[in-house]
Amino acid sequence: MTLRARLTAAFLAVVLGPVLIGAVFVGITVSEVSNRRAVERLQVATTTVRTTVDAACHELRSAAQIAARLYGGGSAADQASAARDGVATRLATAVQITDEHGTVRSTAGQLIGPSADCASAYPAGTERPHSLVARVRLTDQSGRSIGEVVAGVPVDRSFVSHLGASTGVDVTLLSAGDPLSTETAVRADAIAGTAHGLRGDQVKPTHDGVFVRLAPAGTEQPLRLALSTTRSDSQTLYAVLIGVVVLAGLVAVGAAWWLADSTTRPLAELAGAADRVAGGDLAARVPVRSRDEVGQLASTFNRMTREMQAYVQALTASRDQLRGNLGMLGDTLSNTHDLDGILSVILETAMAATGAQSGVVLLVDGPDGMHPNQLVARCADGFDGRISSLSSIHVALGEGLLGGVAQGGEPRRGRADGIVLAPTEPRCRTYIAVPFSGSARPGPTGGGDNGDGEHGQLRGVLALYDRLGQDDFDDADLGTLRTFAGQAAVAVDNVLLHQETERLSLTDPLTELWNYRYLRVALSNEVERATRFDRRLSVLAMDLDRFKEVNDTYGHSAGDAVLVAFAQRIRAEIREIDLACRQGGEEFVVLLPETDRAGAAHLAERICAAVRELRVPIAAPDGREPWEIQVTVSVGVAVYPDHGGTGQDVLDAADDALYAAKAAGRDTWRLAAGPPRRRPGRTGPATADGVPGGADHPPAGLGPEGIGPDGSGSGAGGGAPDVEAGTGESTADRPGGASHRPRTPRQTRGG
Ligand code: GH3
Ligand code: MG
Ligand code: MG
Repeated sequence: MTLRARLTAAFLAVVLGPVLIGAVFVGITVSEVSNRRAVERLQVATTTVRTTVDAACHELRSAAQIAARLYGGGSAADQASAARDGVATRLATAVQITDEHGTVRSTAGQLIGPSADCASAYPAGTERPHSLVARVRLTDQSGRSIGEVVAGVPVDRSFVSHLGASTGVDVTLLSAGDPLSTETAVRADAIAGTAHGLRGDQVKPTHDGVFVRLAPAGTEQPLRLALSTTRSDSQTLYAVLIGVVVLAGLVAVGAAWWLADSTTRPLAELAGAADRVAGGDLAARVPVRSRDEVGQLASTFNRMTREMQAYVQALTASRDQLRGNLGMLGDTLSNTHDLDGILSVILETAMAATGAQSGVVLLVDGPDGMHPNQLVARCADGFDGRISSLSSIHVALGEGLLGGVAQGGEPRRGRADGIVLAPTEPRCRTYIAVPFSGSARPGPTGGGDNGDGEHGQLRGVLALYDRLGQDDFDDADLGTLRTFAGQAAVAVDNVLLHQETERLSLTDPLTELWNYRYLRVALSNEVERATRFDRRLSVLAMDLDRFKEVNDTYGHSAGDAVLVAFAQRIRAEIREIDLACRQGGEEFVVLLPETDRAGAAHLAERICAAVRELRVPIAAPDGREPWEIQVTVSVGVAVYPDHGGTGQDVLDAADDALYAAKAAGRDTWRLAAGPPRRRPGRTGPATADGVPGGADHPPAGLGPEGIGPDGSGSGAGGGAPDVEAGTGESTADRPGGASHRPRTPRQTRGG
């Protein structure tokens, strides 16, 4: 059962109950009053009927007396005349005169028996009287009875009707036979039956609701009569009563429906809205129709959903932020070894955490940088064109705000109007700047130790500007940023360490040239690039001549010094984009992107000459003057794609050309004549002692065909390179190859 149905039922019970009870009470009261009025009417009718019958008897007596007076004891004619005159009075319908013996002397009208005498009660349980009579005794002058005069009227239906009319109730003459009544025969029987059990002024209703009272026979009223009346119930009253009850019922039903509806509708709306909220629709609201408790409930519900919506929005925003941070974490993870990527994540995170509109990360530039030992911007955000380039932001230590923070090692925050900014610093209203330092180990850039010893080496400064909402940065921001800078410094440190490790893993520690591992990668990259852009890539393979003898003569460390000096000379001779690698031992390779055979031959010639000029001073034992070591180099030249379809093929071709140069007497260069000879399974760097082939075994197909500085050779090389062939002196002319006899500085200077 719904709440609405329950409320409707309750209201109906509350309203209709009293209405019905009232109606019943009124009905009972009306009925009671009707009963009482019926009884009262019967009481009055009893008196009236007695009076009426008495009056009838009186009239009969008068008629008899008149007849008696006229009679006067005369002749028979007088007697007949007297009787007629008695009737003529109209007080009786019949007059009879009898003598003292009871013999009828004269009669006028018809006297039907049995008759009820007005002087005595008519006996009960006998046949009903058909007339009412009054008697007057006739006496002579001496007072002796000489007869009587009887005057009567018929007791018939009209007599009874007359009684009923004069009393206002129904009258029934009770007797042994059928009663004579103003009522119907059936009712008359019921009335007679009820009347038999009555005593005195008792009133009793018949089974069909007719009230009956007895008018007992007596001296003044000889007839035994039953008076009856129905209750004078007002049917209209009952109709009105029923109408009122029905109307009240209808009104009550309408009112109950309205009350239940107005009470339950807001609840139904509330339930519907709660259902929508449960389904996730937090925009659900209910109309507030009143200020009562239900209205308060509605407005509280609306407030609750509004708050929930705000919470959910806040949660969504923070979830989005979390997603952003996760994205940033992803960036960080993927940028672990990318310094710029890491710095960008650091800056973004710091700006997001403090609400800064712009920010910059500056690192201390190395000695080889554009601004050595200065703070130089490596990452900036939010300046919207206010800075021309990152490198335009650079500050010397101690200079302006950022230089001061870097030198003092203490974070600072505040407004820019109270401080002096360096001209190359970003402009701002408010600022917050924290220094960050790495671990105390020396930096890969080889820069000097700019930081204090306690915090490790200063790496740089993180500066944020102009917080959103015009607010100054506060101490909480400063604390957050200081902690964050510590973590950021670790990240930067790790990147730099990784970069350094990577550099070390790819460079040769002795000569600081690229090592064989990097050579493989670089060769493959350069071959791919040359293929893609349809360019030439030249490869020089170099091997110091008779280097074993240097070691044997001067010692291994002297040999190392020669290798270092040789590497420096090579670096000096090549371009920025060229790559010089130590392949192993005293063998080196130079990759020359975008260089054809002419360019390569030219460089080979230059290198041979430069090395020939090289004098490597080494300390002589026993405090003698330093010695100078002189070496020569042999060079093999090959060009991609002319001398090989892969990087390895070209390298092998260059190697072959190198052996051709060795075979040609050393201190010279040779251009590869054709594709390399087969070198099964060569995968690693050549070692000093393990170089395939050898000077004593010049590779087949080379040598005679190799093109050298003097333009000798032919065939597969595809024409002689346009180079000068002059090498000054040929190693062939110098038996023993490279001269590495100890020379004094004087000898060199003099030489
Ligand atoms: P060739 O003209 O035929 O090349 O004669 P070579 O003596 O240079 O050739 P060989 O391969 O016989 O000797 C190479 C020597 O280089 C052997 C080894 O002692 C020396 N060597 C290799 N690596 C190093 C190094 O790192 N330092 C020093 N000092 N010597 C090295
Ligand atoms: Mg050698
Ligand atoms: Mg060698």
